[in-house]
Amino acid sequence: MRDVRLTISADAWRGVQKLLHDHQRFLVAKIRWRATRSGSEALVDVAHIMAEVPRGGDRPPLDDFLVIGVENSERLASSAVELMRRVRPQSSQAAITLVLSTTTLGHWDGAVSLEGKIDSLGGFRITGPGPVEVSQQAPLAEHDSTGLFSRLRGAVGETVYQRLRRAVVVQIGASRNGALCAQMLASLGIARLRLCDGDLLQPENLDGMPGVSRGSIGRPKAEAVADTILRARDDLAVTCGNYSVLSPEAAALFGESCDLVVTCVDDDAARVAAGLLAKKMNVAHLDIATSVSNRPTLPHAIIGDSRLFLPRHGCCACTPPLTPEERESILYRLAAPPNTLQRGTMPAWSEQRAGSLITINAATVSAGIGSWLDLLAGTLRTSFWQRLDWIPGEGLRLNSAAVDAAKECPFCKVGEQ
Ligand SMILES: [Zn+2]
Repeated sequence: MRDVRLTISADAWRGVQKLLHDHQRFLVAKIRWRATRSGSEALVDVAHIMAEVPRGGDRPPLDDFLVIGVENSERLASSAVELMRRVRPQSSQAAITLVLSTTTLGHWDGAVSLEGKIDSLGGFRITGPGPVEVSQQAPLAEHDSTGLFSRLRGAVGETVYQRLRRAVVVQIGASRNGALCAQMLASLGIARLRLCDGDLLQPENLDGMPGVSRGSIGRPKAEAVADTILRARDDLAVTCGNYSVLSPEAAALFGESCDLVVTCVDDDAARVAAGLLAKKMNVAHLDIATSVSNRPTLPHAIIGDSRLFLPRHGCCACTPPLTPEERESILYRLAAPPNTLQRGTMPAWSEQRAGSLITINAATVSAGIGSWLDLLAGTLRTSFWQRLDWIPGEGLRLNSAAVDAAKECPFCKVGEQ
């Protein structure tokens, strides 16, 4: 049987609290599937409490579903296989059962039924705030004899440290903010980085990309940045894609599940496309953007925005809202076949911006990644927008707020891909 992994949204997982108070009940959810290179990923967005064991025969023949129960329910057997036998999925249905222990924290048992055959579940994870990795693998048995991460471990605590050491991040954009972001993620000990950028390195990029050498001019940006990271973290698995997230090749970046999607790009269509992929994979999306206006007398001439979106709780199209024209242009580009010429004319780069400043870039990247650490720790539980505003002579001003999806946002809706 192919390896099956289960990913449950934090929204759906909240229902487990009710099961812990009432052991007679079950949490039931519809499953959608995503093929991965090594098997399949079952994704759950929303779940409902039911008072009775759901039966396969009561559901439509092509309805795939998840049932969660707790082990000491009087009416429930203690294993996931026994629960599956009670659920009795039809042979045309795929079902997953999960039995949680109420006596031993973190213990669980999972079963998968595919085409009438029952097997054990490889593991599952909950995306969203807090300590969420739940799998049968033991914590990393890391005897950090080198002391490489001892300061980090002390600063973030054991739970966040373990999550960082297993984290897989997909990052779109490897220019100025992208280089800083990738380097900071590597320093935080993540396990794997999948990095893409369709551009080649130009001489004017170098002053904002520490560690990238002149000898890399003309090379793909993603590869140039990967080289700087690997010098310090030769154990980090880095995959480079020399293409835009809007190109068909970008599907390769999302072949396996990940823990975070980051965008450091100049293009709203790329931001929205990456956000849609993050939503599809049920993981958070962090967008980093900075700008230095060519009209320094105006307020907000040097600004940075970091926006961390939980799936279905806001996106780059609705928080803040794009204009209808901008939104229409994005929809056109997302729907356009590959290599289609872009409509209209792109404004010249210098019409809008005076340049780029590594100081505001570094501050914004730090703020954004800091909010991801808070999400991993569970101290942040919402989508979160931080606006950094450098006021000449006064220093940094920070505005931050919890945010959520706009009501009619077509990109945030549940079920839309
Ligand atoms: Zn939205």
